[in-house]
Amino acid sequence: MLQKYKQQSLAVNLLNRKVRATIVHQVTEVSIKLLRKAYKELHGRSSSQGSLKFSIKGLTRNNQKYIEVTHFAVCFRNVENNSQDIHAEKVILAFDTYKQSNPSGQLDFGAAWVIARGLADKSVQLTKCPHCKSWVLLNARENRRERCGVCKTLLDNF
Ligand SMILES: [Zn+2]
Repeated sequence: MLQKYKQQSLAVNLLNRKVRATIVHQVTEVSIKLLRKAYKELHGRSSSQGSLKFSIKGLTRNNQKYIEVTHFAVCFRNVENNSQDIHAEKVILAFDTYKQSNPSGQLDFGAAWVIARGLADKSVQLTKCPHCKSWVLLNARENRRERCGVCKTLLDNF
């Protein structure tokens, strides 16, 4: 009973953040039909179909965006190290932390979801710039040499 209640409250939490019904279904196992209906009731339009369209590399087109993506990645990593929650709950917690520490931040929850997925499957990695000790997210930019977003040091040789 409690389990079911938890799944449903997580589903509502994700739907409120406009996570598409197919993904909420994968995470919570709540019926897809119910989720689509709830999405429409909450947002006045249907949930998008299919998988997420953007990649992390699509989110880091300029240095400002890259720094924001890296900032969220740090929030997610902190949550991951300190929480036993399931993945989706960690993404919610990390996104709330990100928004609190950076209220004017441009990342939306869908972007946060994609970044957290990249960190979880290790397609991107967080490390620290050896020069200025800022956080750097490796493999997150298209066709670029790895460079610190803050001091611009090239990281190829480290
Ligand atoms: Zn640096």
